[in-house]
Amino acid sequence: MKAIVKQYPKEGLWLQDVPCPKPGPNEVLIKVRKAAICGTDLHIYQWDSWAQKTLKTPLVIGHEFMGEVAELGSAVHSLKVGQRVSGEGHITCGKCRNCRTGTQHLCAHTQGTGIQRHGCFAEFFTLPAENVYPLSDAIDDELGAICDPFGNAVHTALSFDLVGEDILITGAGPIGLMAAAVAKRCGARNVVITDINPHRLQLAKKLGCCTAALDANDLNLKKELHALGINDGIAVGMEMSGSPAALADMLDAMQPNGKVALLGILAPSTKVDWDLIVFKGLHLKGIYGREMFRTWDQMQRLLEGGLDIGGIITHHYPYEEFEKGFAAMATGESGKVILEWS
Ligand SMILES: [Zn+2]
Ligand SMILES: [Zn+2]
Repeated sequence: MKAIVKQYPKEGLWLQDVPCPKPGPNEVLIKVRKAAICGTDLHIYQWDSWAQKTLKTPLVIGHEFMGEVAELGSAVHSLKVGQRVSGEGHITCGKCRNCRTGTQHLCAHTQGTGIQRHGCFAEFFTLPAENVYPLSDAIDDELGAICDPFGNAVHTALSFDLVGEDILITGAGPIGLMAAAVAKRCGARNVVITDINPHRLQLAKKLGCCTAALDANDLNLKKELHALGINDGIAVGMEMSGSPAALADMLDAMQPNGKVALLGILAPSTKVDWDLIVFKGLHLKGIYGREMFRTWDQMQRLLEGGLDIGGIITHHYPYEEFEKGFAAMATGESGKVILEWS
């Protein structure tokens, strides 16, 4: 079968013929229809320091997908061949304290699909049956392929009460924009988003789920918030950019007792004004992955209820043209990029 492989420990990815995997007793073989490129895949392509210390080559990469069940492991009875599915790419141990006490997404021994085990940028790949998530008819193949990042957005957005509140999202990448759509749908009063990339701000305006999409360059955030009638400060912040300046702006704009969810990955050198956190009594929560499987349930139901996030998908390529997809991602001028596998 064809697969996109991190074959060598250097920049690049290679389309190769590799053996089709066999599902273990508790696994499922999935025939991939559509996969989406994640920022993580771009790090792997570029072979940055995180990729160098995390990946062992050769590895089939990719973790955002939808497809159909092609074969069941001998002990799997809960799924059917031909069923349309997406799935949770974090494989957890099932034995550690978090796995056993309802916070499985924080398993101490998580294995990432396309990071520590072979991923979905291939005609077929395997996943433990318990990680497979059947898609309802309300979720088309396109949306099925972006469940993983959409789940990050839902997990972040639904971490705190949003109803009637003023929300700030720093970072208008695909996850930030999807979180904005969720916040609006769930009853936020104002959803303000910031970014330094004009293309992303344009996309935010086009999607129509934000009160304001502000250019973070030379931004006087508090002044802009006042102009929007947000005089009490921000009740819920969602940091999606990984930018120290964005985090500083956010902490400054928070109202006392405000809640901050952190999804963006901030450099270790990031400085924080701790006074703002202590004296305003802010609540900070790190977000990792998706809650298993509460977030999956929530995202399926949000889509079934009419939440529209389709506009976030901006590019499609056949898998043979994956280089074009990665190039589109690298410009920062894309939303989600889909690779077609069938
Ligand atoms: Zn991803
Ligand atoms: Zn565990």
